[in-house]
Amino acid sequence: MEQKKEKVLGFDVDLITLKDAVMLLSEKIKNKQGVHVVTINPEIIESAKKNNALKKIIEQAQLVVPDGSGIKLALMFKGIRQERIPGIDLAFALLEMANDSNYSTALIGAKPEVIDKAAAALQSKLKNINICYKQDGYFDSEKENIIINDINNLKPDIVLVALGSPKQEFFIKKCMEKYSNAVYIGVGGTFDVWAGVVGRAPYFFRFIGCEWIYRTYKQPERLKRIYKTLPLFAVKAIIEAVEFRFLRKGDNNGKQT
Ligand code: UDP
Repeated sequence: MEQKKEKVLGFDVDLITLKDAVMLLSEKIKNKQGVHVVTINPEIIESAKKNNALKKIIEQAQLVVPDGSGIKLALMFKGIRQERIPGIDLAFALLEMANDSNYSTALIGAKPEVIDKAAAALQSKLKNINICYKQDGYFDSEKENIIINDINNLKPDIVLVALGSPKQEFFIKKCMEKYSNAVYIGVGGTFDVWAGVVGRAPYFFRFIGCEWIYRTYKQPERLKRIYKTLPLFAVKAIIEAVEFRFLRKGDNNGKQT
């Protein structure tokens, strides 16, 4: 299946629905084809622009889905309608599929008490879920090698990595060098939400695509990250869209609405 993509500030973003992403990943698991899924947002783009290693990882990822509303808006400026695919929703939908298909899952990241609670919450929601490995996200480089060896020995079908960005992207790259036959997703603060430690934004905020406003209200320390990246991202996205729409500079194969 030819995957439609469109560039956002120089990064390919897959134009796909959540449902199709799960179907695609399910096929990949069946065929034992490894996939690194990046759930991209303006913060990751801005940090990748300053970090070549991160940029390369994103460019090499087999699936890049638009997590942040900023990415959705940047595509909208170009006239492309694309739903937002929050990492937390994609990860849960994938686990629902894994629950039905008997696929195994490794969970890596978050604080020790959080990962235990998150795993327990998943097990109570998804009765057949096979969590073959869980590991908190606070480890040194020696332990990191042990974790990677564990993953290589256990050979899970899905590996969810919740270390925050860009730590999780670097971990996934390293782990895939040893064991590449799984679907790996960097899921940020997802385990905190599943554990009930951090609340998911109320439906209204999710509906208007502004979950970040709620998260910033709950965790004001995020404000620094946001104001450093969002205004600059917005300006660049508008310039790119103007070029795309009026000068047709975009080397895209994305669909237009
Ligand atoms: N985390 C971790 N190890 C670290 C740093 C962070 O496991 O060394 C976890 C942290 O406990 C939290 C997640 O990574 O669960 C980061 O969440 P955040 O909301 O910052 O990620 P975002 O969704 O913004 O990428």
